[in-house]
Amino acid sequence: MKKHNYSAGPCILPQEVFEKSAQAVLNFNNSGLSILEISHRSKDFVAVMEEARALVLELLDLEGKGYQALFLQGGASMEFLRVPYNLLKENGKASYLDTGTWAAGAIKEAKAFGETIVVASSKGENYNHIPKQYEIPADADYFHCTSNNTIFGTQMKDFPNTNIPIVCDMSSDIFSRQLDFSKFDLIYAGAQKNMGPAGVTLVVVKEEILGKTGRTIPNILNYQQHIDKESMYNTPAVFAVYTSLLTLQWLKNLGGIPGIEKINEAKAKLLYTEIDRNPLFIGTAVAEDRSTMNATFLLKDETQAAAFDKLWKDAGISGLSGHRSVGGYRASMYNALPLESVQVLVDVMQEFEKTIS
Ligand code: PMP
Repeated sequence: MKKHNYSAGPCILPQEVFEKSAQAVLNFNNSGLSILEISHRSKDFVAVMEEARALVLELLDLEGKGYQALFLQGGASMEFLRVPYNLLKENGKASYLDTGTWAAGAIKEAKAFGETIVVASSKGENYNHIPKQYEIPADADYFHCTSNNTIFGTQMKDFPNTNIPIVCDMSSDIFSRQLDFSKFDLIYAGAQKNMGPAGVTLVVVKEEILGKTGRTIPNILNYQQHIDKESMYNTPAVFAVYTSLLTLQWLKNLGGIPGIEKINEAKAKLLYTEIDRNPLFIGTAVAEDRSTMNATFLLKDETQAAAFDKLWKDAGISGLSGHRSVGGYRASMYNALPLESVQVLVDVMQEFEKTIS
């Protein structure tokens, strides 16, 4: 039986994507060859890469606006390093918003390159909210933020207005909600939540912000090099790019980001309503900053955990345990998770309440 998969990533992808990508492993485009055994320079794969890069810009409404989409490797963690390498000037400074473990990871890498200012942090409250009052230095080379904090279940609903380039780690909510993506100068996201399998990272960059650091950048770390080589500077993660393309096509057929946003809002509303209504549970994130992707919640009485865990596991739910730094439960409701799976979880929470009272 197919599980209701709440894994935080790698995570559920659309079933039709699994089926199509499995087919391509056996016989890609009726070529008599597997997607895994063809050259990345073959006509068929170059077409995949071109379509995937174009579709990213189309879905984000960034076509013709000076942006380039790249499929790179090294995970979002590599972009923690590549961003300052490419944007932080010699003797310049970077500014970061600290909203969680991943944001802190990005800050750590920037500090290795130069002056790095943390404009605000919610670390003191175990990252249960997004700081709102902060000032971004006008002379910083860029401002970096994390749109969705996968571990803590918080999500930025607004982004600052600033004249300096905005860089955003959208690993865990890319393609999930409508935003004015042209507000951002560089967006990056590990594929393994809303886009595809692990092994590829999407980078969307406004080309005009590059080439200003005065630093020599090794080719593999240089965004411009990857742009010039059309995202094929080195052998790309062929299968991960292909599967990402299938997911992007699935999303387009659903009505793109506006289409999926409605479904994501319905899922989040269903679950948060139950977390707030059910006397046995409590949410961990401040309500106004709650993530539509990762809902984090606790049992008020932890001695009930074994009984609750048995119930959801018996209902075919997988991947609901919280991250160790928050505890409790984390329901990751990425794009491919159907509303029906959320209903199953809500039913389990209600059933649990009945068994306790
Ligand atoms: N940023 C965010 C918001 C994440 O959720 C994650 C991973 N879950 C990362 C960065 C790190 O990604 P990777 O493992 O691809 O380096």
